[in-house]
Amino acid sequence: MKSSLIASCGMNCGICRGYLREKKKCPGCRESNENKSFSCVSCKIKNCSELNKNNLKFCFKCYKFPCKIIKQMDKRYRTKYNMSTIENLENIKKFGVRMFIKNEKIRWVCSKCGGIICVHIGYCSNCGKK
Ligand SMILES: [Zn+2]
Repeated sequence: MKSSLIASCGMNCGICRGYLREKKKCPGCRESNENKSFSCVSCKIKNCSELNKNNLKFCFKCYKFPCKIIKQMDKRYRTKYNMSTIENLENIKKFGVRMFIKNEKIRWVCSKCGGIICVHIGYCSNCGKK
């Protein structure tokens, strides 16, 4: 897990199924569009004019935060995957991205094998532990 894997919206690409899969591995939101899903290429946050125009690294730096788009995403992730991207952003804002990654490692590393638990599938991408 590294800071370049934390997307502007607070999503940690390191725990995404697109990043964790072996075939056609996604390089992460901040990297090139190669192997990215359509939903990531066309993402409203990634393509947000405020973010890009002002060269903001994270959404919390935006005067519109939390905007409608990020609220929608946060709701989807809270409901479907039990994770809040707004909470992630607030933690990055308060404690910095390094501390955030440190805590992400505690949260998502498998206690059995040290692999990464995928937020989308809900179990370890390496050994399958739930
Ligand atoms: Zn495991």
